[in-house]
Parts: sequence; structure tokens; C-alpha cells
Amino acid sequence: MSQILVVEDEQHIAEGLRFNLDAEGYQVQVVESGEAALDLLMAEAAAFDLVVLDVMLPGKDGFAVIAELRDSGRFVPTLMLTARGHPEDVLRGFAAGADDYLAKPFELAILIARIGGLLRRRQWLRNGMTGDAVRSESSDAFTFGAKSIRFDLLELRVGEQTFPLTLMEANVLRYLVQHEGKPVSRKALLEEVWGLREDTDTRAIDNFIVRLRRYIEDDPGRPRHLLTVRGVGYRFVSLPVTKG
Ligand code: CA
Repeated sequence: MSQILVVEDEQHIAEGLRFNLDAEGYQVQVVESGEAALDLLMAEAAAFDLVVLDVMLPGKDGFAVIAELRDSGRFVPTLMLTARGHPEDVLRGFAAGADDYLAKPFELAILIARIGGLLRRRQWLRNGMTGDAVRSESSDAFTFGAKSIRFDLLELRVGEQTFPLTLMEANVLRYLVQHEGKPVSRKALLEEVWGLREDTDTRAIDNFIVRLRRYIEDDPGRPRHLLTVRGVGYRFVSLPVTKG
């Protein structure tokens, strides 16, 4: 049975989630603050299969929680609940390491579908090579130099080191790799990877790219794979031309 942690201070929403997720067969624990969520997740992250994380919380907000979680190397799938009409919150959430989001007020059926999607992905990873879905994805890797992105395992391997990726990090990398050598606009990333149509502040995308560079660049301050295209966006290059 999948264990879900709900982090939500509005009691009626929290109780509604508990009741309905319970009815779907999940084990649900509710906490009302970011601090309480971090206490649980830092102590026994493996006990939870998924986190539903509200942005607006007393004390530490959802952005601070997800950032601390990811910075500490904990990659439990996390769906953020954002305020409708604040697309910049969505971008901030993704930049901080969220896997998915839903704007409030949300439709319960959609929330349950999103949760199911995130958990299925996690289950494939756990099952290793056993399922058909995994077998068909097992060659889903992209190698450049000493680095390899395993899209199926949500991992980036650099030499002997392995870095876990969030679903969204893997999706952004996949999109850039698919358009290798070509400029990819911030708008295209927003619309085609993040599913956002809103004309929003795109700085969050830049922050996201900064994070990816920390993984894939030898010197993140002087990127050779994930290049900035001035006035447009970014361009991925797998084999950079070495200078001099
Ligand atoms: Ca709240």
C-alpha cells in the first residue's frame, strides 16, 4: 500500500484529501507545517512513496520544504499545490525540484490521476527490469562523453557517480537532448515540457537550468553542454568543440 504524506494547513482540504485518498486505498498521513513535514521526511524519507505539498504554509513554505528535501538528496515524488493565477509559483516549484503541480481549487479526480501517474513511474523504477513497460524503456539512455542520462531510472551517471533526477529534470533534459544542437526557447520549454501556456516570468527556467548544469557540467560556471543562446533560451550540445 502506498504511503502518502499530505502537507496542508487548511484543515478542510487536508481532511478531504485524507478521506478521499484513503478511499482510493492509500495510507495517508497529514501534517500542517513545513517543519513537521521535513522532520518526517528527513528522518524516514523511504517511508513515503509520495508527498502532496501545499505552497502556502505557516513557517517554512512549500518552496523551502522541497528545496531542503532535494538539497539533502531525497527524491521522493512530490506534487505541489499552488494558488490558481500564480503561474510563477509553478515555475518556482519546478525550479526547486517538484515533480508535478496542481492549482487550487483542484478537482479531486485530477489530483488522484496525477498521484497515480507519479506512483506508477516510481513503481516501474522499483521493479527494475521485470515489467514490460520497463523492458521497452530499458534502452532509454543518452550517453555523452563520460556522462549518461538514464531516463528510465531517473539518473544521471557521471563516471562512477550517480545523481538522481526528478521527473521534471529528466523531462527537461530529454527535451533538450531531442533538440540537440538547436536552440530551444524558454517559451517552448514552458509550453511543451511544463505544459504552461501563461506568459510568465521565465527566470525560474533559468534557475532550473542552473541546477541541471551543476549535474552535467564539469565547470557549471563555464557550461560546454548546456549553452545559453542569448535572447532565445538554451542549446544542448553533446560533444562540445574543444578549444585550443
Ligand atoms: Ca495552505
